[in-house]
Amino acid sequence: MPLCPTCRSEVTPDDVNIAEGVAVCRSCGGMHRLSRLIEAASDAAAIGDEPPPGCRVTETAHGVHLLCPARCVSIGAFMTLFTLFWNAIVSVFLLVLAGAVYTHVIGPLPSWAPLPDPKGKDGEPMSVGATIFLAVFLFPFVLVGAVTAIIAAYSWFGRVEADLSDAHGEVRSGVGRLRWTRRFDATRVRSIQMRESKIQSSTSMGGASRHRNSMNSRPSMEIVIEADREIHLGRSLTETRRTWLAAMLRALLLDAPRR
Ligand SMILES: [Zn+2]
Repeated sequence: MPLCPTCRSEVTPDDVNIAEGVAVCRSCGGMHRLSRLIEAASDAAAIGDEPPPGCRVTETAHGVHLLCPARCVSIGAFMTLFTLFWNAIVSVFLLVLAGAVYTHVIGPLPSWAPLPDPKGKDGEPMSVGATIFLAVFLFPFVLVGAVTAIIAAYSWFGRVEADLSDAHGEVRSGVGRLRWTRRFDATRVRSIQMRESKIQSSTSMGGASRHRNSMNSRPSMEIVIEADREIHLGRSLTETRRTWLAAMLRALLLDAPRR
């Protein structure tokens, strides 16, 4: 017998209107689409008794807070090694640049300075033009090093969070203070579904071909909340955590009795 997603009482066949595709719960008077009753049954299994490791549900003053860690050890380890290697090489060029800037702005390098002497074969310091060229040339390399560092940090310490109250919903993903926040109208949520992500996984960056291959064979999924706007989240989560988060969001946003 299907259970009412709102109050968990049984919905009897007499209360189901097949033609309209809806069911009415006698206990709470809630009207539910049949598709939602079926979905709620599998959600109940996904929610289980305990959240997946690392995931948390907390009641706040305004509503409910959901937390899922975005930890992925394989991507984190790869990106950390890549970032260290990349930035070690880039930093050698940055030291050359620092030495050149010093000689132009302040004067000859002191002998104790841990900077390579930017003198060429002819003993002349690097020209101003060459110094500016080097700075512009290095910029994209520094940028790549920063981006891979952020991906590495996100793979270790990143988190996906949702704050839900009666009227407002907010989802955040990021690491530390680097967070991407999206808000939606919690009273206008029509559906919450799992879909194939249209965006290529970030792990295909930086030549992580092993990951790229495994991602291609299994497309990355994401949760899509359809409310006053469409919100995509949870692409970086493991399947267990993503399934749990989607089931929790549905239970809280679609089934909670509206006051
Ligand atoms: Zn009910």
